[in-house]
Amino acid sequence: TPLSRIRNFSIVAHIDHGKSTLADRLIQMTGSVADRDMKDQILDSMDIERERGITIKANTVRLEYNAKDGEHYVLNLIDTPGHVDFAYEVSRSLAACEGSLLVVDASQGVEAQTLANVYQALDNNHEIVPVLNKVDLPAAEPERIKAQIEEVIGLDASDAVMISAKTGLGVDEVLEAIVKRLPAPKEGDITKPLKAMLVDSWYDAYLGVIVLVRIIDGELKKGQTIRMMGTGAKYPVERVGVMTPSMVMVDSLGPGEIGFITASIKEVADTRVGDTITEDKRPTSEALPGFKPAQPVVFCGLFPVDAAEFDDLRAAVGKLRLNDASFTFEMESSAALGFGFRCGFLGLLHLEIIQERLSREFDLDLIATAPSVVYKMNLTDGKTVELHNPADMPDPVKIDTIEEPWIRATILTPDEYLGNILKLCQDRRGIQVDLSYAGSRAMLVYDLPLNEVVFDFYDRLKSLSRGYASFDYNLTDYREGDLVKMSIMVNGEPVDALSMLVHRSQAERRGRAMVEKLKELIPQHMFKIPIQAAIGGKVIARETLSALRKDVTAKCYGGDVSRKRKLLDKQKEGKKRMRQFGKVDIPQEAFIQALKMD
Ligand code: GDP
Ligand code: MG
Repeated sequence: TPLSRIRNFSIVAHIDHGKSTLADRLIQMTGSVADRDMKDQILDSMDIERERGITIKANTVRLEYNAKDGEHYVLNLIDTPGHVDFAYEVSRSLAACEGSLLVVDASQGVEAQTLANVYQALDNNHEIVPVLNKVDLPAAEPERIKAQIEEVIGLDASDAVMISAKTGLGVDEVLEAIVKRLPAPKEGDITKPLKAMLVDSWYDAYLGVIVLVRIIDGELKKGQTIRMMGTGAKYPVERVGVMTPSMVMVDSLGPGEIGFITASIKEVADTRVGDTITEDKRPTSEALPGFKPAQPVVFCGLFPVDAAEFDDLRAAVGKLRLNDASFTFEMESSAALGFGFRCGFLGLLHLEIIQERLSREFDLDLIATAPSVVYKMNLTDGKTVELHNPADMPDPVKIDTIEEPWIRATILTPDEYLGNILKLCQDRRGIQVDLSYAGSRAMLVYDLPLNEVVFDFYDRLKSLSRGYASFDYNLTDYREGDLVKMSIMVNGEPVDALSMLVHRSQAERRGRAMVEKLKELIPQHMFKIPIQAAIGGKVIARETLSALRKDVTAKCYGGDVSRKRKLLDKQKEGKKRMRQFGKVDIPQEAFIQALKMD
């Protein structure tokens, strides 16, 4: 296909504004999928994606379109994830395209992720076509939203396409706009040495590792030996194809085209997204500007509730890693929870998704420890170490300073919730950077320590604003903080799984909440049990669980033997799910509840 008849584009939108629905309509209207195979949200392939209505992994589809100018076009749609945790995946997908459709819900308007995503598209020099979706809704106010797009984003919205992705109204104009208003790939010479970008990769049970590529120069063919310029690894190309969205094999891919290859690559981790692929025999002289690999920013421990399931957990995390190179894990052992894994995630949603997949797809019952960010410990001997796990905290006398990651958050909210949200940000050690208005919506920019956001910030924000506030963030820098390790002691014994790093100013609040909760959760014993939160040797919060006075069976007045037996059995049953700390039995459920912050 000549460059002039290729369009590579993505759709950027805030969650729920209709990106997947529009993708479905485009696929349907270009006849890429037979009607009988059409199901909703065809690009969102994982079950969790469908249920939660979010796109997790970027995907792609090639559409064939006969335009009104009589020409035949190839349109490559690269679907991008809509959530902040996957900003890195968004950026690499955008780098493979020349333009974006900016979808905005005409009844909701611009939201935090609309901004984050459109700025990323602009950073990639994209041409942007604004699309106002859901105009079928009675609450739609397309004229007002157009003005808002111009005011907040600074983008000309006078030619915005008005559509209902649901009914299909106006979607034909979207196809025309892609052809007329988005640019064709700029460069590209088929006679030059092969130069292609590695856009994405995933693991397929039948085909092994599949690599999505965007060709810049040259031709990619079956049988060629390719070289990954970043890693130096060489592979013979076994298959070349395009996603329609089902996989169709082709002879070759040329400049401007997007497709996939397989090349007996063993693991997704062997493919570095953003790497340049060239031909080993006739390599290109310059690689594409490198991408930085995604780094895990949030860590937590995952332990099986039933210790016998450890091997199943090991197999499961290994399987997930095959398809998700940004998820990391290493073995960890805890006195409280036994053997498990310390896992790293791109963010909180990523953590939740992995946890959910482990329990759903692999049927595992798990305990997750409190999420922790990555701290930098500057030691007195001049060395700096990263801390992923509060349990590995060096001896405090050896620590000079501790640095923690900060984020810049953008929050959009209806005016009436602003007061509460300002207070929330302030309570979480936030520093206000900006406050502006777009109509009756306030746009708030805050710098916040990630440590204060990983627990429950998002949930609090949603409840304070009745779900109307939207939130987006990016990591900015590391800053020194007065951070301390808070330990929890039950009957004088530290419980490792419950220790955490907190800011000194927040320690008492967090410590108090934890000991009060544990008092509710730990069953009474025959003796008094002190429950304490401590920093170093100093107790900052304390509760005492009183002793059990009578045997539970005393209630039975000796008469009803079967009832007594039942109670004893129940106690025994309970014992199995207990962990012992010194002389104290703590039920599994207590950990699960205590680690759920509220
Ligand atoms: P995404 O998160 O941006 O991919 O959004 P989806 O495509 O999953 O759509 C979110 C919700 O909005 C779904 O319930 C859709 O059925 C609904 N929706 C999408 N487009 C329209 C539209 O044009 N009109 C109406 N009324 N609902 C729509
Ligand atoms: Mg979607």
